[in-house]
Amino acid sequence: MTIASNLGFPRIGHRRALKTALEAHWAGSLNEADLLRTAASLRETHWRHQHGAGFAHIPSGDFSLYDHVLDTAVMLGAIPSGYGWTGGPVPLSTYFALARGSAAKPALEMTKWFDTNYHYLVPLLARDQRFELTENRPLALFREAAGSGLRTRPVLLGPVSFLRLAKTTDGSDPLDLLDTLVPVYARVLRELADAGAVMVQIDEPVLALDLSTKAREAFTSAYGALAKAGPELLLTSYFGPLGDNLPAVLALPVAALHLDLCRGSLDLGPVLDHARPDLGLSLGLVNGRNIWRADLRACLATAQRVTEARDPSRLMIAPSCSLLHVPLDLAEETALPKALVDNLAFAMQKLTEIKLIARGLDEGEAAIAAALDASDAALAARAASEAVHDKAVAARLAGVTEAMRHRRSAFPVRRTAQHAALDLPRFPTTTIGSFPQTEEVRRARADHARGAINDAAYDAAIETWTREAIAWQEAAGLDVLVHGEFERNDMVKYFGERLAGFAFTKHGWVQSYGSRCVAPPIVWADVSRSEPMTVRWARFAQSLTGKPVKGMLTGPVTILQWSFVREDIPRATTCRQIALALRDEVADLEAAGIGVIQIDEPALREGLPLRAADRDAYLAWAVESFRLAASSVRDATQIHTHMCYADFEDILDSIAALDADVISIEATRSRMALLDAFEKHKYPNEIGPGVWDIHSPRVPETEEMTALLERAADRLDADRLWVNPDCGLKTRRWDEVRPAIANMVAAARRLREIAA
Ligand code: GLN
Ligand code: ZN
Repeated sequence: MTIASNLGFPRIGHRRALKTALEAHWAGSLNEADLLRTAASLRETHWRHQHGAGFAHIPSGDFSLYDHVLDTAVMLGAIPSGYGWTGGPVPLSTYFALARGSAAKPALEMTKWFDTNYHYLVPLLARDQRFELTENRPLALFREAAGSGLRTRPVLLGPVSFLRLAKTTDGSDPLDLLDTLVPVYARVLRELADAGAVMVQIDEPVLALDLSTKAREAFTSAYGALAKAGPELLLTSYFGPLGDNLPAVLALPVAALHLDLCRGSLDLGPVLDHARPDLGLSLGLVNGRNIWRADLRACLATAQRVTEARDPSRLMIAPSCSLLHVPLDLAEETALPKALVDNLAFAMQKLTEIKLIARGLDEGEAAIAAALDASDAALAARAASEAVHDKAVAARLAGVTEAMRHRRSAFPVRRTAQHAALDLPRFPTTTIGSFPQTEEVRRARADHARGAINDAAYDAAIETWTREAIAWQEAAGLDVLVHGEFERNDMVKYFGERLAGFAFTKHGWVQSYGSRCVAPPIVWADVSRSEPMTVRWARFAQSLTGKPVKGMLTGPVTILQWSFVREDIPRATTCRQIALALRDEVADLEAAGIGVIQIDEPALREGLPLRAADRDAYLAWAVESFRLAASSVRDATQIHTHMCYADFEDILDSIAALDADVISIEATRSRMALLDAFEKHKYPNEIGPGVWDIHSPRVPETEEMTALLERAADRLDADRLWVNPDCGLKTRRWDEVRPAIANMVAAARRLREIAA
């Protein structure tokens, strides 16, 4: 019988139960035993859901109290010194210190899990690293499920991915540690086999990346050893095709192989042609990365193609990747338009889809005829929907000309016009946009959202804060002011709520890291703007001061990147639609007398495809979209952009191609090292390298910021330098912002004196 198989289930629970429990524990109001009990009950519930949906392969070990990469590091005893661990079982307090930092030590570095919005903790290893099994966690969880009468399939993060995702303190190559690591994995597997585990899922998502020969050889050597350890291994990779890694993968002595057929459908042909006849296949047909319902008929056809070619008894039907990346249950969403709901599937609905495909294979199409018809009908309705396909948007996109992507004049000409219009000092000072979202600000927004205060009262509160912010910035001596973004909840949601084509869930939470969840907007239809979105507050702020106030927009790529997007049109098309809507906003801001407009693109780098070969195409449409949004303005109107959260060296040419007049960019933690790259690439326009790491509550001294600016001035033309923090200040407190900005303005003045 075809196996309905899952690779991972959302951990966060109904209405973010795990978040509530974790935060109560961290705040001291829930003790460890009760936290662990909550976690166990979530696991039990999740296993029961999957069992109830008819799944024969239910994962265990996919759950985590914070992050599964950290779980793996802790299990292997890969714990850097300073966290108070000297061997043996790892206390929960150490685990959370690694995840979140403690008074004694900062947290491990956190970074994005491939191209998802989930973040993992980067294991920190050293050349002489020793590994020890602190606790066989997969075994404990396998037994926990067995105690509830369920046989599960343990999940492990595989050794090559673990090493490839790790960093070392001494510059050594983590892959050199493979031989010391594999025996620990072998022991984990052996103990699982002894406890009755038949098959173990071993995740090696680095197989979706470009791999060195050394990494490919690491697979050969690791799996040569692990295949002998006991249980059957299901080797799992996702987020892209195996591509050129496929020949090496097909030579591994594993029992079964999972294929991400949503993003890696190109693998299927070669696998059917070349895989060992006895290799079990897991078909990742249902997309674990997006919220759309599956095309059941197409999925079934693909599965049938496989059963014609291979022994069907070992076939698994699965999601493309863990369901960690989608919200839990669509049934919770009662306020979405029906036409949209009919086309959505969250984790629970995806389980049903997988089971249906498996059933269709076993019992024939007739057995699932009603579900196939419903799937066809939903897809057809969407394809024909005038709410989804807006003719005016299509016409406008078709009418985009090359000239629309270019400013009227080249940068040197614009620069002269801007300097004349703005009359700024050398080393102009500015901030990135947001000011502290205080308790008061958040309370007013919440009160407004639930109707406790009316629009007029809410607007009056925002006017007050904006007025105070402008007065304070003038007094602080800043040169280009901002309105402070008090009216914005979130830099994407604010725009999504004002654009046609976006929908918002009530409980569509997805884990971002630890207890932190996001509910990404859903771009479900063609995007357009019916009226100005930001002009009111920009104009109000500008009316209060003679200094220039920056208009503040989130860029098309960032809005795209932080939303669930359509699959019926290319990402690039959605991005261009958003860009055209923003283009209108830019024009309206300019017409309202705003002479400086910032278009934030912090997510430009993170949209970069996993494989090098795909990157140029992405960068081309990403850059083009930004330019489409930005290029309508007069020469004298200054366009800024802002970037953070990443290293940008490898995409500097594209950043230059945005042709923004000014870029502000996170640079403090790298001590301006980033600027070497700007220098090398001869970055042509103006730059504000951040001089204040706003992720830390620490207030930097004037001397530190002056020193950073001098380093910057050594590398770049001093006349092109701006002075600003690394990012927006919404997470900081006013008692940090006031002194830090005073010091920053003093640093700029110091520099003007030195340079004079
Ligand atoms: N303008 C935004 C702010 O200041 C930019 C935020 C970001 O880059 N993430 O908050
Ligand atoms: Zn930023």
